Amino acid sequence: VQVAFRSDLAYLLELIGSGKESLIFMKKRIRHLATQWLLATHSLDQKLKSKPRDQKQILIHIGFLTEESGDVFSPRVLKGGPLGEMVQWADILAVLYILGHSLKITVSLKELQSNLGVPPGRGNCPLTIPLPFDLIYTDYHAHTPDNCFMGFVSEELNQTEKQFIKANKANNMAVVYGKEASIWKGKEKFLAILNKYMEIHGTVYYETQRPPEVPAFVKNHGLLPQHDFQQLLRKAKVFIGFGFPYEGPAPLEAIANGCIFLQSRFNPPHSSLNHEFFRGKPTSREVASQHPYAEDFIGKPHVWTVDYNNSEEFEAAIKAIMRTKVDPYLPYEYTCEGMLERIHAYIQHQDFCAASVPPAKPNSHAMQSSPSPFTLSPNGTHLAWSDNASSSSSPPAWPPVNSMQVWVSEAGQACTDACQEHGLVCEPTFFKFQNFSVYLFLPRLNIICDSTESEMNHLYPAMAENVRECYLQKEPLLYSCAGYNTKYRRLCPCRDYRKGQVALCRDCL
Ligand code: UDP
Repeated sequence: VQVAFRSDLAYLLELIGSGKESLIFMKKRIRHLATQWLLATHSLDQKLKSKPRDQKQILIHIGFLTEESGDVFSPRVLKGGPLGEMVQWADILAVLYILGHSLKITVSLKELQSNLGVPPGRGNCPLTIPLPFDLIYTDYHAHTPDNCFMGFVSEELNQTEKQFIKANKANNMAVVYGKEASIWKGKEKFLAILNKYMEIHGTVYYETQRPPEVPAFVKNHGLLPQHDFQQLLRKAKVFIGFGFPYEGPAPLEAIANGCIFLQSRFNPPHSSLNHEFFRGKPTSREVASQHPYAEDFIGKPHVWTVDYNNSEEFEAAIKAIMRTKVDPYLPYEYTCEGMLERIHAYIQHQDFCAASVPPAKPNSHAMQSSPSPFTLSPNGTHLAWSDNASSSSSPPAWPPVNSMQVWVSEAGQACTDACQEHGLVCEPTFFKFQNFSVYLFLPRLNIICDSTESEMNHLYPAMAENVRECYLQKEPLLYSCAGYNTKYRRLCPCRDYRKGQVALCRDCL
């Protein structure tokens, strides 16, 4: 079935249901952004030249709001609890609906089971196949760059609004990131330095009295409705992160409203080994600042990442920021059009059921006789999918294989970093091709394996250079772009990306 974009969001609001504070927050957000979504839909439709699109049957199970998972979020919506999850779900729901797909939304296990055809009271019985859905969206505990980036949006400003913001900035006004008092704990030193130069504002939730963590010289507005919070950001010069929450929406909103985001660098980086937030999550990702995307993909003059353990560096940054002029800035991927474009591309092209290429058993015969689908770059630094291979035998893949470049990391370097060093991003879906061919191309990169083993390890394929031992990945689903070991140089599947839409390669649309 072919679909058209939807412009009226009334039925979506009905589908979302009501009752919980979290659902009310999400519906309010969708209503508030309705005009922005509508404008974005028009321009994406033009960009895609009204190309036909398939309608998918989509089940959306918002796991964190279910009673079965404890729903710790809903009761805290109005009390300074996390809102990022709701921002993200609200925007995902809006996008899937606007793209014209057929949606079922569940916020309880019972509804989920009934939609999947599980008889009541038989939670563990095997699912009926085929399922009545093409796609299921849900949430789970982890976060690695190996997941596809769904994202969320921030409001886009027109030229007049941008001019107005620039003209009305208070050069000495700072807003501190953190609506929960605990985030302010132990930050007296920074607040005292900041207070020498700026008027400090906060939006910390409180019931009757000022929370003890928030000093008296701070103007605390209490938790603000989302729109009012953004109005406050319009006046402020700087938005200051104290290290938590990680990767929330607020810094992007701040930058979009013309603030400079000042955040702390984590040295050593935070990970499941040293930080409670990540403990037990199945990832060896290391996070080197509060908002790595802001640091890596936006950077100066909008984003300053400094070592807060060094008071002089912190103070110098504040002084420099006060002298720096910036325009409001919103990367394309965080605009309504950018999010619609990204999710549209995923839905039309991703194939989670595509067979992965099994790791080949290395043997010297294969090494000599099979032609490698990769060619060595002219300067011998990395491999690319050869043009010949892509025209004849290239596997149908998305992202297309011609966006792939295979680089070898340094010992002790994660693939995310190895790719980034070359202006690329790590693309986990390419691991399957790379693993298959690893034994064919290692000699071509001047890496000699005296022996090759196939094992389950999320860092493989990799090589231990000193002992000339190479390792293939035995379990294709275990690949991870994050993670390193000083013993290994990893083989990294990198790809190019569109400026302002990192999730998509240049030829991905
Ligand atoms: N926000 C809000 N009122 C406030 C402060 C923040 O509504 O006083 C909103 C903000 O606009 C953002 C959302 O809270 O969209 C989530 O922000 P944050 O980055 O703090 O992430 P969280 O920890 O809530 O997931």
